[in-house]
Amino acid sequence: MSIITSASGSSCWRGLDYYKNKKIKNIKKLNNNEYTSIVSGNKDYNVYLNLEHPRKSTCNCPLANGKRIICKHIVATYFSAVPNSAKNFEEEQEKLQQEYEEYEERQYKNAIDYLHKMTKKELIEELVYIFDYAPEWIYTDFVRRNDIEG
Ligand SMILES: [Zn+2]
Repeated sequence: MSIITSASGSSCWRGLDYYKNKKIKNIKKLNNNEYTSIVSGNKDYNVYLNLEHPRKSTCNCPLANGKRIICKHIVATYFSAVPNSAKNFEEEQEKLQQEYEEYEERQYKNAIDYLHKMTKKELIEELVYIFDYAPEWIYTDFVRRNDIEG
């Protein structure tokens, strides 16, 4: 487990924002695994960062205080403490995004290929299902484009 995998996606992105906007003040390295900092948000929050045991990290903001939650202040401190971690995080997210888009493209292509293999009866059943469950404009647009009268 790392700080990033222990934090929610939203804490990671907001932590990155805080890091880029230089909200981390007074970061201190206690040893190779432990840091303290003050992060300015609505107020100044005291962060303790533990790289070896992420869940032992603490912050006295309302979200994380007294809980084992990795908040955006802890993530921001992590990005500030570990060289290249922010860059690596962004690159990793870009890679994931790209992989997801490629996956979606392949899936779309496979769906189209599948349509080509369906019988007319199967296609009609599929379209009726879509008319019943898709947003209504799909049906009304079909009726309008094909001049179908009531
Ligand atoms: Zn916090």
